[in-house]
Parts: sequence; C-alpha cells; structure tokens
Amino acid sequence: MSFVRVRYAPSPTGAPHIGNLRTALFNWLWARHNDGKFILRVEDTDQAREVDNGLELIMESLRFLGMNWDEGPDIGGAYGPYHQSERLAIYKKYADELIEKGAAYYCYCTPDELKQMRQEQEARGEPTRYDRRCRWLTPEQRAEREAKGLPRVVRLAVPLEGSTTLPDFIHGDITIPNADVDDQVLMKSDGFPTYHMAVVVDDHLMEITHVMRGDEWISSFPKHILLYNAFGWTPPQFGHMPVVLGPDKKKLSKRHGATSITQFRDEGYLVEALVNFMALLGWAYDGERELFSRDELIQAFTLDHIHSSPAVFDRAKLDWMNGYYIRGLETGDLAERLLPFLTRAGIEADLETVKKIAPLVQERLKRLDEIAPLVDFIFQQEIEYDPKLLLGNKMNAAESLNALRNAGEVLDNFPSFDDEHALEQELRAASEKLGLKPAQFFGILRVAVTGKTVTPPLVGTMKVMGKGKVMERVERALRELEKMARAGSVV
Ligand code: GLU
Repeated sequence: MSFVRVRYAPSPTGAPHIGNLRTALFNWLWARHNDGKFILRVEDTDQAREVDNGLELIMESLRFLGMNWDEGPDIGGAYGPYHQSERLAIYKKYADELIEKGAAYYCYCTPDELKQMRQEQEARGEPTRYDRRCRWLTPEQRAEREAKGLPRVVRLAVPLEGSTTLPDFIHGDITIPNADVDDQVLMKSDGFPTYHMAVVVDDHLMEITHVMRGDEWISSFPKHILLYNAFGWTPPQFGHMPVVLGPDKKKLSKRHGATSITQFRDEGYLVEALVNFMALLGWAYDGERELFSRDELIQAFTLDHIHSSPAVFDRAKLDWMNGYYIRGLETGDLAERLLPFLTRAGIEADLETVKKIAPLVQERLKRLDEIAPLVDFIFQQEIEYDPKLLLGNKMNAAESLNALRNAGEVLDNFPSFDDEHALEQELRAASEKLGLKPAQFFGILRVAVTGKTVTPPLVGTMKVMGKGKVMERVERALRELEKMARAGSVV
C-alpha cells in the first residue's frame, strides 16, 4: 500500500453522534494501520447551519476517543488551511479554471425562475432539475447579463451523453447514465462554494487517497466523480459506509438514547469499550471475534472487511462490552475512573477508599455511573431505610433481633475487620448455630449495615467501612428490631 492520507470532514453543526464518529474511526484506523495521515478538515461553508462551539465539540469527542489527527485546524499542516471558509480564493480559482475550459458555466437564473421551472416540470410529470437554459446562452446574451451585474452561480456542465462509472470499494462499481445528473451548482452567488465543489477540490489538493464516508453521500457521488473528470484529476478511492440503525431498524437518532459521544462518556462507558463497539458498526474481522483492543483494531482493520449492509446499534452489546472492559481494568485505574462518578452524585469520596471498594464492585458494574447507588451508604453518616427490611426471610422481629444480636457479638469480638476470611467464618458458624440459612442471617446484617438488600459482598464492604461505623449501624438496627419485637409481643 502506498502512502495513505484520509480525512474526517465534519460540518460544525453540533456534537457528533456515534454514527459520525464511526466514520471518523474507520478513517483513523486505516491511517494508523498504514502509518499514514489522518486529517481533520472543517467543512464550514454552510454557515447558516453552524453552531458556535461546533468545532470544539468535535475535537473533544475525537480526543476522548483517542483519535489524534496529524493535520487540522488547530495544529495546521502542509495542506492548510483546514477550515473551508478560509479557502474561498482557492475554490474561486478552480471554478474559473473550469469556466475557461468550458466544463462549467455561469447561470443567472433567479430563485423565482428556478421555482417556476420546477413547478412547470412537476405539472408535466417530469423529474425536477435545472433545464440548463443558461448553458446555451449566446455570448451576446451572456454579455448582456454581465453588463447588468446580475448575480450568478457557477454550474458544472455535465456531459449530455454517455455514462460514468463510480468505483466504490464497499458497494462495487456503480454505473449511471450522465443524462440523469443535474448541472450541479459549484459556486454560489455569494462566492461560497457548494459542498460538492469544496469537497472535491480539497480532497484533491490535500492528496487524500481514500474517502470513507456515510452512505448518505452516495447520491452526491456522481457529481463528485464528474467533477474529478472535468478537472482531469484522478479521484481517490471511495467507500460509502453502511448507515447505523437503531434496534428498531430506523436510522439512529436521539430517540435511541444518548447520541453524542460525550453523553456515553458521562453515562460511564469506557473509551476502550466504545472504540471496540464502534469498530464493529460496519466492519467485522471474521464474523466471530468481537473483542479488540485499540492496537488490535489497528492491526486487523482492512477495507475489504467493511460491509455494505446497515449496522445495528445494540445497546445490550455495548453494555456487555463495557462490563468486559471494566473487569479488565487494574483496580487502581478503575478507582480513578469511578471517583468522578461518585463526586458527581454528591458523594464525598476519597480515592483511597474508592481503591478499596473497586475490587468489590468490579465484577458487577456494567457502567461506571452505577457506582453511586451501589456504595453511597459507605460514605453516608446516616442511612435511611425501612426498618421492616430488617426482618429476616420468614422470621419475626424477635427472631431477627436474636440473629442480629448474635452477629453483633461476633463482630464485637473482632478487634478489627482486617481478617475478612476469619470474620466470614465466624459469622457463618453463628448462623449455623442458630439454625438459620446464611441468606437469612446475612440478609439481616446486610440491611443493618447498608440499609439495602442488594450490595457488594458484605464482609468485604464491612472491612472497608471499618468496625466503628459498622457497630454504630448494628446498634441502631438492634434498637429498631427491639421496638418491633416489643410491639409484636404486645399484640
Ligand atoms: N461535511 C460532510 C459531513 O458533514 C462530509 C462528507 C464527506 O465526507 O464527503 O458529513
């Protein structure tokens, strides 16, 4: 493979969603696979659609996903500028060149004229398109319009006959009759290029070798190839990637939950999982293997394994992958990633404690944002719970009270809870002596200490909490059970 230069060319119209970033990822992987260059280019010629911090949102998303760019608006490069709005003179020069060659022409039609043309075509049941009336103007007619200073656009003079083959390495060759292609506007009357003009000129000047973009651009593809032909340039290799659908097989959108990648980050998805997951939206290795680290993806990623059928966004699979990557983290690393999720939930946690908690929760977390409700009781001064939860399964208040007293005694006899194993043994022995099932005995103790019926492993959790806090909570629970037992014996 000769040198590879690929680009991600977003319009700064808002936070990029997972489908856009899948496009970026495939380009990035292909660049890295080949030791090539990944270029970030801002397609900002449609300024009405722009949002203020559009570029920032794009760069933040790429940075979060670890997709670094080699040239771009912030770092420059030999092919700049990388904002299309700063390249207007370049597009004008190339438009002039096409006019000179006779491959493009000025069109003076007003919006009203175009509208009327469309209506007439519709009335005749014809496809609506520009009827090329300005293409056939005589030099005198043209001079007359110029003398009046009429606003003008530049249109591509599409060949009237023959056909054009569009080579696509994902879909295969597509051949279209030229007669089906409109004389596309290349330059607008305000001096701005259209997307079609800018994308072709830039991909050529920036020496892009592969254009990988979403399927939605397939309808523009003929115009682009015809434009390359008009210039006499060799087009890059094109691949239009399958759309990403939601589980309902409709195009992925906000209806399917989080759309911006930063939202996925805030929900506690790991970058490792997101990158792996996104790589499988339209690409497959052998149809079986699904787990790939970033380096493995770079190694394995080839264009012939991109498929043309739509990819389906499956959140259950993302959750499964996220759990897998969480389980694979070193616990110190996991703790560091968990801490912000606790802080955000208003829990004043410290990294040292979270490091101790991490191994207790690692197996059960699917998302980092599940951490707060799972361990909040460890950090709280007082816990709130319904005292009835203290009643063991099929046990009354007096029996539950007796069980918790026994548990309390065992705990009290341990100077500290450091020896988790011994503590667990003794508690089990106490439960057995009372003829209780471990689920009954530990269930009561669990609610007493945590206020919850489902928690990380109890003995390990008590070790993290320390004896003082645990005993305080056991005592409070004993008082609750005493109250209930007294009330019970009265009735
Ligand atoms: N600016 C286009 C977009 O926003 C880029 C299309 C292309 O890659 O050619 O998706």
